[in-house]
Amino acid sequence: MPILTCSSETSKSVIDRLRYRGFCIDTARIENETLFLELTPSGAPVCPKCGQRSPKVHDVSYRQVKDVPLISTEQVIVRFPVRRVRCSCGCCAREVIEWVEPNSRITKAMVCLVQNMLRMKLPVSEISAELGLHWDTVKNYDKLLLTHLFDEIDISGVRHIAIDEFALEKKHKYATVVMDLETSRVIWVSRGKSQNSFSPFFEWVKSKAVQDKILTVSCDMNAAYPRMVKEHLPKAVILYDFFHVMKKFNEEVVVEGKRRCVSLLRDSLRSIKSAKNQGLSPEKILERQKEAGVLRGKITSLTGSQWLIMKPIQQLSEKRHLLLDKLLEDNELLAAVYPLVDLLRKIWQCKDPKSCDELIELARKLLFAINNKHGFAPAKTFATMLKRRKAGIICAGKYGYSSGQLEGANNKIKVLKRTAYGYRDFEYFSLKIKGVLPGKRFSPWDTMKRGYAVLKSGLWNTLPFPRNT
Ligand SMILES: [Zn+2]
Repeated sequence: MPILTCSSETSKSVIDRLRYRGFCIDTARIENETLFLELTPSGAPVCPKCGQRSPKVHDVSYRQVKDVPLISTEQVIVRFPVRRVRCSCGCCAREVIEWVEPNSRITKAMVCLVQNMLRMKLPVSEISAELGLHWDTVKNYDKLLLTHLFDEIDISGVRHIAIDEFALEKKHKYATVVMDLETSRVIWVSRGKSQNSFSPFFEWVKSKAVQDKILTVSCDMNAAYPRMVKEHLPKAVILYDFFHVMKKFNEEVVVEGKRRCVSLLRDSLRSIKSAKNQGLSPEKILERQKEAGVLRGKITSLTGSQWLIMKPIQQLSEKRHLLLDKLLEDNELLAAVYPLVDLLRKIWQCKDPKSCDELIELARKLLFAINNKHGFAPAKTFATMLKRRKAGIICAGKYGYSSGQLEGANNKIKVLKRTAYGYRDFEYFSLKIKGVLPGKRFSPWDTMKRGYAVLKSGLWNTLPFPRNT
């Protein structure tokens, strides 16, 4: 059943009525690549309260909004009168205009276009530049869309989770992210890393009655989560997965070891520089300068070298492989630390708890030896930590969660931070994180049908008449 009849109207006015229902285009002019449309009402106003037609018009105000461009470079600005009606029912209010929301500066169709572009993963800044809209306008509609899709995440099937923290600003502000490891989707984001800031997560889990369904929690070894997990998730075991342990090993042993090597080299360089050249033969002076040059070269080659050490050897190019060999030859401490990287990797590949235990003990022995030989305390600290967290490490091997996806998540969050989505609006930032990590098997993005927009007033279909379904 058609709602609009074309018989007595030109096709142009049908399009007017499709697009600007209740109005027709009075004048259209183009100025500086912008199309200005002036609309006039096509009929008497309707009371917003009782729906009665043609009540008295109390006053008229004018509104101007942006509409979907006709050509990509062109803007469309629509100006139209809004009548305030005084009805016999006692109502005195502005008439309702179907194609634009009250107080919005863009039409509903434009909102739909903006959100389509957002669903195509275009950045807010690009969309605002392309459509000539303010960054905040695009952001606000992005937030509405994300809230609609990600505010209420279904966690009924969640069994294995990982908890991780990341810095929002250098060493100051933190956020905590919870990921469902089976689907790689982010299910929770909260500001801060303190216990207080994280307890709402457990309350949420309880409110959804899944506290007994969660079986494993992978987390960082520094964290205070184990106690909280024990208290709130009675069936869950804590896992210290490969990703977190390697991260810790890198930060606390490899990077510290590298620092130690650099400072040793700097000491030697300083002693060469401070030694007096007076009375030495020119050959001897040249030899000293050469020696200083070699030392400087060794210091430079240590920059960023932790990645050479941490990467699996089969992933290194031939050139990098040679660099690694040279690095280990020049730095005794790093050469002593290097075999541990492979050993730690083996621990997580090991499914048998007994052999896993043996491997951990072997790693501890190596770490103590490094501490004794080089006076390198971080090795001892790490060995102690391995003992304390042994049960969780062995469990991680059993369940096989290496949470490599957490690493991917960290990178995506870093990109988000760079694109200035900003933590000024943390709620938006956290929705954005959920939006870029929606999950592998099923994504809320797929539930959004074409032609729909999420407005302040709710979900809206762009077509002015019902679809034939
Ligand atoms: Zn009325």
